[in-house]
Amino acid sequence: MQLIADFHVHSRFSRAVSKDMNLPTMHEWASYKGIGLVGTGDFTHPTWFAEMREQLRPTAEGLLELKPELRAKSAIANPLFIPTTELSCIYTEAGASHRIHLVILAPDLPTVEKINKSLGENFNLQSDGRPILGISAHDLTEKLLNLNPKILVIPAHVWTPWFSLFGSASGYDSAQVCFRDLLNKIPAIETGLSSDPPMNWRWSELDKFNIVSAGDSHSPRKLGREATVFELEKFGFKELTEALWFNPLAHATRPKNYIAETLEFFPEEGKYHLDGHAKCQKSLLPAETKKLNGLCPVCKKPLTIGVLNRVEKLADRPEGYKNPKRPPYRTLVPLEEAIGEALDVGAGSKAVQEIWTSLIKKFGGEFNVLLETPIADIKNASQEIVAEAIDRIRNGKLIIEGGYDGIFGVIKIFNPKERKKIQQASLF
Ligand SMILES: [Zn+2]
Ligand SMILES: [Zn+2]
Ligand SMILES: [Zn+2]
Repeated sequence: MQLIADFHVHSRFSRAVSKDMNLPTMHEWASYKGIGLVGTGDFTHPTWFAEMREQLRPTAEGLLELKPELRAKSAIANPLFIPTTELSCIYTEAGASHRIHLVILAPDLPTVEKINKSLGENFNLQSDGRPILGISAHDLTEKLLNLNPKILVIPAHVWTPWFSLFGSASGYDSAQVCFRDLLNKIPAIETGLSSDPPMNWRWSELDKFNIVSAGDSHSPRKLGREATVFELEKFGFKELTEALWFNPLAHATRPKNYIAETLEFFPEEGKYHLDGHAKCQKSLLPAETKKLNGLCPVCKKPLTIGVLNRVEKLADRPEGYKNPKRPPYRTLVPLEEAIGEALDVGAGSKAVQEIWTSLIKKFGGEFNVLLETPIADIKNASQEIVAEAIDRIRNGKLIIEGGYDGIFGVIKIFNPKERKKIQQASLF
């Protein structure tokens, strides 16, 4: 059975997160997206954890579900929950300062209680849903695994410059240097929005990890921007753990539980894909940055070095390297964005909302519409231009201005002439 999971999520108790990020709304929107398992996010926050305990109940297989009386009537499925949080380790080691985000998956609520009690003794968990901990990624991992070895530690968005394992301004040049004796206790790394699996395949050091994707959503609509698709015997924590630990590069035969594929953002759309300087509205390719010695051509201050550049620096395989044993991936544009681009109006506009709602209700969620529904059926249920947009996304026929220094990239599916031509043709 396939399960689409998005582990990395934030509650309204994290900075810059929508007030709507409560469990019933997350449940409702995960159902619209087609997510089968969504992280609670922020389980270290005391108020949020109290809500989790009040509103969720364990399933027979060892995950969580929203209590029936809290489920929105409009929900089109019953997505499950898993206790997750993101922790921000900020520390100095061997003279270098590090800021590293880790996503933590816990097997059950009693384990979360243990984690919160233990971390609460030394750190302030109240101030933010994604708390800052003055402890190294290594020591935190050790502490968590001592509390319960079933806990899963996954370095988050590993390439982003400011807060990640390999970040240009915050990370390490090797996971081994960061995690040392605990390296083989890390099952997977998260690509983040600005990188995709092929970029990660290029570095042989990453062969020891699975590669997972998650949305890092701060609002219900952004759930599932990226996700990991599991093939599982049963929807349980044990099966999920087995899948996360099964590394297809290291074994000839596949167990019953494994990662089937990942669903990706176009990495260029991510906000740290290229190098650049937001203040000066300047984005650069790695080769251009090199020529300029890493300095902004406008203000001469250091550029923010993006993900593409970082991968280029650490990778030891050529661009385009593939390993057929790695799970496949597909690249998506959020459906509202795709419809908005097709109609040439904002993703939040009424026209977009009407088409979006009818498509997800008719075809059982956004992932189905984007990935599975025949294009002819989408055309019949909406407009030719919308169907054409989805077809182009499936075939990667897009023009993308790369994101940089915190600014998201911009996706264009049609040029204005093409759009007009398709719209006019469909009138006859
Ligand atoms: Zn993060
Ligand atoms: Zn996050
Ligand atoms: Zn500048």
